[in-house]
Amino acid sequence: MKSEPLSFLSGTHVGPWEIYLEQVDRVTPYLGKYAVLVEHLKRPKRILVVDIPIHLDDGSVAHFEGYRVHHNTARGPAKGGVRYHQDVTMSEVMALSAWMTIKNAAVGLPYGGGKGGVRVDPRKLSPGELERLTRRYTSEIGFLIGPDKDIPAPDVGTGEREMAWMMDTYSMNIGRTASGVVTGKPVAVGGSLGRRDATGRGVFVAAAAAAEKIKLPVEGARVVVQGFGNVGSAAARIFHDHKARVVAISDVTGAVLNEAGIDPYDLLAHVAATGGVRGYPKAAAIPAPDVLTVPCDFLVPAALEGQITKDNAWKIEARIIAEGANGPTTPAADDILLERGTVVVPDVLANAGGVTVSYFEWVQDFNSFFWSEAEINQRLERIMKNAFEAIWQVHQEKKVSLRTATYIVAATRVLEARALRGLYP
Ligand code: NAD
Repeated sequence: MKSEPLSFLSGTHVGPWEIYLEQVDRVTPYLGKYAVLVEHLKRPKRILVVDIPIHLDDGSVAHFEGYRVHHNTARGPAKGGVRYHQDVTMSEVMALSAWMTIKNAAVGLPYGGGKGGVRVDPRKLSPGELERLTRRYTSEIGFLIGPDKDIPAPDVGTGEREMAWMMDTYSMNIGRTASGVVTGKPVAVGGSLGRRDATGRGVFVAAAAAAEKIKLPVEGARVVVQGFGNVGSAAARIFHDHKARVVAISDVTGAVLNEAGIDPYDLLAHVAATGGVRGYPKAAAIPAPDVLTVPCDFLVPAALEGQITKDNAWKIEARIIAEGANGPTTPAADDILLERGTVVVPDVLANAGGVTVSYFEWVQDFNSFFWSEAEINQRLERIMKNAFEAIWQVHQEKKVSLRTATYIVAATRVLEARALRGLYP
């Protein structure tokens, strides 16, 4: 019997989830005996929508909408970040959770995929309001999360501070400290050294591995970064540390360009003082959308999904796109980039460094035994390089894009686990 499409996502409400479904359809012909199980990837295991009422500082009560989605848990507990953004939708959180399933399997972590989000502009709330929001959200999703069930982490709009509040709230509710319930915590409360830069570092490692394949030296290469938050700023710094020239950077406030190179450390000081890259005196202002089409060797989208589309893909003059963001490229844009010979290192591989060090953090929390930063970075590099190499081979053998190759490796692992576990009852 054929399964019906998910009814609650109808009409115009599809968005990123539809992009994910198209990516799955593209990989299905390569899944061999597992192709018949592919419907398991096209349905989230469970979805929770919660109301989050909080007291604002002025004494009034505001309600926010929150989500937590478990896409798949065939390979282990759900794992994935929490996004605070005013445009968060169910479709987006579903897609982000599914990309976590693929990502965790692609690099071989013993996790399924999950994701959460709250429709809120965190810049409009005071620290006290944000704390109350985070604690109420954590309590509302409390029965779904836990160190062996579902382990949240930071994403857009959340960071170490929110993770400390989430860990504390969950711990207070169960009556003991459970540091392994979230990752991306401050080091002082069970976080891992190296987690802060892990996603950006992984983006660099994956991009450099791709560069080696096409004989592109990193030293002196031109780099463009869209989004200058956790992922984008770390990636920019690490490229800069390896003597690449970061020529353009954007964030939600604007975009800046300097052909001679931008020092990301200096730009970070400007952002800390002013709240954004706009107005940086050592570079010229350019229109924000133009950042994607600045000629470069490495383009790192590290903001939000749906940035590289059929409307701008043909104007991109990058040799390698290393996707720091989740879902920045639409399938139609993927086709254009493939035709133009641009190497796209997909999100589900390129940005897996964050969840990899989250995995290290979780393991360290279980053991109450912590590793040195050098050890973390070494292990991260090894996992990223091995995953890249295996996926590159599939890409060459099957003559498919790196994205499809990553999905072949990952979907096969997830569906193999599904097949081995069987269907209960
Ligand atoms: P963040 O909130 O720290 O930073 C987001 C950055 O994007 C900010 O600089 C913001 O100003 C900028 N931005 C927002 N809208 C923009 C726009 N329209 N144009 C240009 N810049 C814009 O978030 P983050 O954690 O760095 O996440 C960025 C991306 O990386 C997201 O897609 C996220 O899902 C993905 N990601 C994050 C992690 C992680 O560990 N934090 C891991 C894997 C993937």
